[in-house]
Amino acid sequence: MARLRGEPVTARARCSSCDYESMHPTYAAASTALFAHYDTAHTDRPAPAELHQLPAVEWHRQALQAIHALAATGEPFVIADVQKYGVTDPPQPRTDWPKVTAEAEQLGWIEHCGYAKSTRPTVRGSAVRQWRGTFAVRRAS
Ligand SMILES: [Zn+2]
Repeated sequence: MARLRGEPVTARARCSSCDYESMHPTYAAASTALFAHYDTAHTDRPAPAELHQLPAVEWHRQALQAIHALAATGEPFVIADVQKYGVTDPPQPRTDWPKVTAEAEQLGWIEHCGYAKSTRPTVRGSAVRQWRGTFAVRRAS
């Protein structure tokens, strides 16, 4: 699996209600640990809202990093190729994929360059947009 630039080796799970703290290899693992901590140590109150958003925020960050890495190669790609960088399906696939794609385009990282057959098993064979890193991204990498 390709390593993402800036990917942290460890993620800290820190409770905002007590001094509980632990280190984990991924944000997903840290999020899981915090939920487990709340389930055992703070049964009197619900987990904070930001904890519930953590998986989506983390997916968005990973997906954007992977798109940037794909753009930097200069080769045409489809968004599902982010899976090569270990990015899994998003929490809300129908809206999260288009959202992160549009964001990368607005950031000036990628440009539409044609259509390709989808590589995703769920929509096998259907045409999906193909993208390419912009000159600015390729030059900076
Ligand atoms: Zn706590």
